[in-house]
Amino acid sequence: MSDQVETAPELDDDAPLEARSPEGLDDEALERRAAALAEVLKFGDPVLRSKASPVTEFDQALGEETERMIAIMRDGMGVGLAATQLGILRRVLVFQAGADAPATALVNPEIEWSSAVEFATAEEGCLSLPGVVLEVERPLHIRVRASDPNGTELTIEASGLEARVLQHEIDHLDGVLILQRAPKEQRRGAMRALREGGTYAPPRPEEEAGDAAAGGDPPAAGNGAGTGAAAGSGAA
Ligand SMILES: [Zn+2]
Repeated sequence: MSDQVETAPELDDDAPLEARSPEGLDDEALERRAAALAEVLKFGDPVLRSKASPVTEFDQALGEETERMIAIMRDGMGVGLAATQLGILRRVLVFQAGADAPATALVNPEIEWSSAVEFATAEEGCLSLPGVVLEVERPLHIRVRASDPNGTELTIEASGLEARVLQHEIDHLDGVLILQRAPKEQRRGAMRALREGGTYAPPRPEEEAGDAAAGGDPPAAGNGAGTGAAAGSGAA
């Protein structure tokens, strides 16, 4: 499993969240990816709208749960996963912001500070919203307080992609999806795609003069991020 992760192309800040491009995976990795994505709850499941409860027992089962989450995140080519997405309403998330970064599990994460003036807008995908990419504006820098699976408290200062992944996963623990964070027009296009089993990506500037209102279809090419997320719907 680690081979696949190590050889995966490194993420940059332009990559959409959670969904990494499946390009270049061999058949076995694609099968593992499909099996992992099959375990992730998809849009329409009411659990995804539910608020998760704090963890109070740091036992062996918690350690096993986070190991399983990391395995599903990696096999699914994700950069983050919240327990909510597996139907477990406990405040646990895992993330790996970059192919060479270590996978980290956080229990009871809280954003204790975020940059009030510095925001960034970037495209995000979600393993629970296959085929959908949306633009989300978030604070660029955050500080998160959490525990590791052993109950040791830790503080993480994060910026850029790492900050974005953490905010996306903490949103999941509060029952919030990127649909609620995206501009209204994009949300409308994404909802239509999810209902009809299509794909959605925000219109690129050069396409807005065209038929942006049609929504449902992602750009045909030129953005590996969008196509990667779209391919995810096939795997799930
Ligand atoms: Zn997500």
